[in-house]
Amino acid sequence: MAKVIATANQKGGVGKTTTAINTGIGLARLGKKVLLIDADPQGSLTSGLGFAPPERFTYTITNILADTAEENGVKDCIITHDENVDLIPANLTLANMEMELLKVMGRENILRKYIFSLSDKYDYIIIDCSPSLGIVTLNALTAADTVLIPVQASYLPVIGLQELIRTVSKVKRQLNPKLTFEGILITMVDRRTSYAKEITDMLRKEYGEHIRVFNETIPRSIKQEESTTDGKSIYTYAPKSKVAASYEAFVKELIG
Ligand code: ADP
Ligand code: MG
Repeated sequence: MAKVIATANQKGGVGKTTTAINTGIGLARLGKKVLLIDADPQGSLTSGLGFAPPERFTYTITNILADTAEENGVKDCIITHDENVDLIPANLTLANMEMELLKVMGRENILRKYIFSLSDKYDYIIIDCSPSLGIVTLNALTAADTVLIPVQASYLPVIGLQELIRTVSKVKRQLNPKLTFEGILITMVDRRTSYAKEITDMLRKEYGEHIRVFNETIPRSIKQEESTTDGKSIYTYAPKSKVAASYEAFVKELIG
């Protein structure tokens, strides 16, 4: 059975997609079988893995949510990245599903059912959520075992988190009793300031009782931005960089 992790935070630009890529490929580098699922109509995970523009794909997560995947052949929408992870891409067609799914019974359970059918093939399935807390994200949270929350090391990351935490608690109560928090990962840390320590302390004080705050943090680096544009993980783009070392250490902390 695969462990299913959703990267979520309804603030954009905090490192969700970057964390999904580098965690997924980091796990693959440890020999784990990994599937990455893009659940954002922007398709940032898809293009971040080098498959730009995501509009090139006919079969995407949209087909799965539209429940037409079986007739179209589910395998058609799973593609393989050369760093040994599989990907289910997303593109703008996913934006229509928010409306479409309103009409569907059991609409929050579609992705969970689909993932269940794949669960034996993978060790980890990582779902990269969009910043919205709409039905597509509810599908991701209903399919997940844990929620990994990247938080940007800047002022007041606390505010946006309350709503996410409320949503996760609601999903846990109503749709997915086994859902738990994987933890908070602090990203884009400027090592020249003492911010990270302050923010870590603040997050621990505020949430530490219920949510683990990872010891490892991810530094801000131009190398990371470049690697996203280049469609590669940080391990391949800049193997000797601090970001590569930090994500590698984070992955080890994650799997304990
Ligand atoms: P989200 O998915 O939360 O919107 P992304 O992972 O797409 O966030 O990151 C937003 C932007 O910040 C992207 O351009 C990405 O390349 C950049 N970025 C992510 N992590 C870092 C980092 N550690 N250092 C510098 N830039 C980063
Ligand atoms: Mg993203």
